[in-house]
Amino acid sequence: CGIVGYIGFREAIPVLLKGLKRLEYRGYDSAGIAVINRQLAVYKKCGKVANLELVCGEASLNSTIGIGHTRWATHGAPNDVNSHPHCSGSGKLAIVHNGIFENYLVIREGLIKKGHIFESETDTEVIIHLIEDVKRLLHVPLQEAVRLALRQVMGTYAIVIINEENPGELIAARKSSPLAIGVGEQEYFIASDATAIVEFAKNIIYLDDHQIARITYDSLHVVDIDNHEQKPHICELEIEL
Ligand code: GLU
Repeated sequence: CGIVGYIGFREAIPVLLKGLKRLEYRGYDSAGIAVINRQLAVYKKCGKVANLELVCGEASLNSTIGIGHTRWATHGAPNDVNSHPHCSGSGKLAIVHNGIFENYLVIREGLIKKGHIFESETDTEVIIHLIEDVKRLLHVPLQEAVRLALRQVMGTYAIVIINEENPGELIAARKSSPLAIGVGEQEYFIASDATAIVEFAKNIIYLDDHQIARITYDSLHVVDIDNHEQKPHICELEIEL
């Protein structure tokens, strides 16, 4: 339902929680965040962002990259385990997702035959396992693995992924579900709805369908699903808060 992401010089957790609160008006059943501080840490909880905030209170700060989600369950009951973020089999990748991966059951069956074990009932967990599978098999960077995996999926999505093995990058992609990237000075904000980040960044890039962005602390590189280089358009946002 709602997505936020951050990479920069600020503490990520407060930025993510603030963004999630701004998305609450859209309605949701659970909330969660993932950050990297040497290791990937996931905090998620059924219920309000305020519940999540309590859980995060135990988290040690010191992470400058992270993703967050408010979930409106479509596949799998609203509970703690089905909440986002979801992790890959190795536990190194974490994803947040808005939308529906329609052919996830077929992909899930194939991955189970390969030995994958799933914790949740969601369509989302299947896709992060698929991405890791592609990455390992083909020895490609994460952005390329995401691109190749997305060629196999049907449905609608806005996704953001972080990787413990490369804690300096975020991968974001979309199809039929909005995703905005706020461009700051040496920092980037991501949100499914720009109102969640407008207080932090006025320069916004709206990803187009089938675009896959790799965002680092100081760079942004966008390709399309056919691996053609894309030149992102920066718009200046005017939203009264
Ligand atoms: N299909 C996903 C799920 O049920 C994402 C739902 C959403 O957009 O919040 O977990």
